[in-house]
Amino acid sequence: MGPPGAGKGTQARKLVEKYHWTHIATGDLLREEIRLGTSRGQAVQALVESGKLVPDELMIELVESRLTDGGTYLLDGFPRTLGQAQALEELLTRKGAQLTGVLFLEVPEAELIQRLLRRSHAEGRADDTPHTIQTRLQEYRAKTAPLLSYYEERGILYRVPGLGDVEEIGNQIAKIVETLLSSP
Ligand code: ATP
Ligand code: MG
Repeated sequence: MGPPGAGKGTQARKLVEKYHWTHIATGDLLREEIRLGTSRGQAVQALVESGKLVPDELMIELVESRLTDGGTYLLDGFPRTLGQAQALEELLTRKGAQLTGVLFLEVPEAELIQRLLRRSHAEGRADDTPHTIQTRLQEYRAKTAPLLSYYEERGILYRVPGLGDVEEIGNQIAKIVETLLSSP
C-alpha cells in the first residue's frame, strides 16, 4: 500500500524478482486493458485517466480472476478501499488462503507531487498531470488512507519510510518480509 507515487511498483518488482512471487499490479493490469481496448478497458479508461478509483466490483472481479493457484502473491495497488479489503478477506477465506502482511510505503505529499510530475515527463502517463495528481491524492486520502487503521487493528500493518535511496528502502522491506516468512 501507499499513496500514488510512493514507489509501490518499483519495490514490488524487486520483491517478486527476489522471492519469485506472482505480482498483481492492478494499475498495470488496467492500463494494459485500456491499451488493448478490451470491454473492461473501455469501461475504466475515463476513470483511470482522470485519477478516480475504479468501482470496487470491477476491481474485485479483476483480482479474483488472477488469484488462481496456491502460490504466493504480491498485491500492488489493491485493496484501495474498505470494500475491496473486505472482499479480499472473504475471497481469501473461501480459498483457504491468508494475508500475511500489509506493507505501507510512507511518503510526504510534497515529495509525491514532485515525483509524479517528474514521471509525467519521463513516461507520459495520462494520469500524471497536475490536475489529475490532485484527484488521485484526494481519492487516496478519502478512500485508501482509512485502510491503514483497518490493517493496524488486525496487527498486520508494517510501515516503511518511502523516502531516500531505493535500494535502502528495498532492504528495509526485505527485513520485514524475512521476519514474516520465518514466523509460523
Ligand atoms: P505508484 O506510483 O505507487 O505505483 P499509482 O498511483 O501510480 O502508484 P497505480 O496502482 O498504477 O497507481 O493505479 C493507477 C490508477 O488505476 C488509479 O489511479 C486508479 O484509477 C486505478 N486503480 C488501480 N488499482 C485500483 C484499485 N484497487 N481500485 C480502484 N482503482 C484502481
Ligand atoms: Mg504503480
